[in-house]
This record gives sequence, C-alpha cells and structure tokens, in this order.
Amino acid sequence: MSTNIKLKASARTLSLKDCYAMGEDGAYSLFKKLRWPATDGDPVCPKCGSVEVYEIKTRRRFECKACRKQFSVTSGTIFASRKLAFTDMLAAFALISNSAKGLSAMQLSRDLDVQHKTAWLLAHKLREAMAAETKDAILSGIVEVDGAFFGGHIRPENKKEDRKDRRLSEHQTGKRRAVVVARQRKGRTLPTVHETEADGVETVAKIVAKGSTVHADEAAHWDTLHAMFPTLRINHSVAYSLNGACTNQAESYFSRLRRMIDGQHHHVSPKYLAAYAEHAAWLEDHRALDNGAMTKRIIGLAMGHPVSRQWKGYWQR
Ligand SMILES: [Zn+2]
Repeated sequence: MSTNIKLKASARTLSLKDCYAMGEDGAYSLFKKLRWPATDGDPVCPKCGSVEVYEIKTRRRFECKACRKQFSVTSGTIFASRKLAFTDMLAAFALISNSAKGLSAMQLSRDLDVQHKTAWLLAHKLREAMAAETKDAILSGIVEVDGAFFGGHIRPENKKEDRKDRRLSEHQTGKRRAVVVARQRKGRTLPTVHETEADGVETVAKIVAKGSTVHADEAAHWDTLHAMFPTLRINHSVAYSLNGACTNQAESYFSRLRRMIDGQHHHVSPKYLAAYAEHAAWLEDHRALDNGAMTKRIIGLAMGHPVSRQWKGYWQR
C-alpha cells in the first residue's frame, strides 16, 4: 500500500528521514509484509499455520483462533526480544544497507541515539541473518579462490618505538587469521576463516561443485585443487596470465572487507571475523540492488531467521 509506494519512490536514497517519515504504523506494516509475504502481511500463526487470528491492537500482538497461541510480528525470529521501535529497526537496517563499507556499532548507536550494546547486538543479529542466505550454498561454473590475512592490526598512532613490540605481542596473542574466499562469477561469494590460507583449501574443495573451473593464484597450497577441478593459475609476481586465469573478483571482495575492517571495526577479534567476512560478501553480492530493495531484503531475511543460539539473551549471561 502507501508504505510500498513510499519505499519505491525513495528507493535510491532510502534515508533516515524516509524511515521516520513512514511512522511507527508504516514501519510496522512493512515488517508484517516481509514477515508474511504469502498473505501480503496478514498474520499467520507460527504454531499451527492458521490465518484466523484475533488482533490485540494496543499491544501489536495476535492470538490464534485455532490454537490460542499469542504471537507478534517478530515472534520466533532473531528479533523476537526486540526493544526498539519499528522505525528505529527500519532505520538501523537502512543505515546498514546504505553503508557499502559496513557500519560500526559506535556509528550506529550515534545515528540512532541508542545504547552502544543495543546497536552492537542488532548489527550482529542482522549479520547472522544475512549469512544464512548462503548457508549450504554450493558454487559452480567459474569460481575464483583467494586468501588474505586479517586481524592483529597495528594502530598507526602508536609510537614508532612501540610498534615492533606491539606487533610481536599481537602475533603472540594469535589474533591474525586468514580469510579464504570462493567467489562464483555471476554467483555468490563464500568466505571462511582459518588459521592459515592453506587450511582453507579443504573447505574450498567442499563448497565448489564438481565440474566447476577454478581460478587461483600461484600459492602452492592450491595445487591440490588440480586433482579435483580444471584449475587455472595466475602468477601475481609477474602480473601475467598465460591461460586467462583471473582472480580480480576475489580481490575486489577482499578490498571491500579490508575497507570495512580498517575503516570501521579496528582490532577485529578472530571470534567476529567470520561475521564481518560474511557481511562484506553479502554487500558485494547485492551491490547492484538499490538501497530500498536492499533494506527490504535484509528485513525479509531477519523476519525469516529463527531465534539465534549465539545472540539470544546475550547481555543476560
Ligand atoms: Zn495457531
């Protein structure tokens, strides 16, 4: 209805102002449409699937006429225990999809005027929902593979004389990890995190379908792929490809992840590196979508994603 028209009209620049202009009712109605797309937003009982429900309007809840289950638009989803208004959630999702390099929880909390931990948790839940889009995905056709190290970042403002020691201690704390990516041309980007790039080869072999052609660089650990796939190699040191091998798309993924981590999430811990790597992959794979479409897609993913084992009751632990 009007919400949709509004969203379409402002698709290119779905701004904070647009989100708040929608009002709490408009934002709520958009969440309903994306939670229950099959009924265009009419509630469906999460327990028995019935569409015969009473609406408890004042509390934005429903009661199933068949099984008496009470539920809301976010019941059973990763945002089940939401504390934010729908306009704030919509604004958060829009901000996250508008920022090509990702968004720090600090920035998000400032923009939305919410507590840092609220913003941090919301962003992580959203990353989990985004990553689920490629859960169990298998790549085929032409697949580029590559790896790069992240973490153990040294702040430039550290005094020069401290640098060496700091670098040593960073290495000793083991914060450095390799992100290995497999990227299908005209397809999805699947990153995984490992101790070393070589450790990722086995995973790559599992997520690439037989019959695919793999493009990799000259690093020796990729040699094992030749037994499984037609594999083309590029030698970066001579910047020359004899047989048309090219890993440019894997490299542009890494440049996005590098900008995201250096620009927003300094000192990323190995614990969260996979979440950022998946976030960057999602943004890369949906870069052709306009902001409005991207935001709707993110809301749809969040509303279709179950309660998180990792993040449920996170601050109560
Ligand atoms: Zn029911």
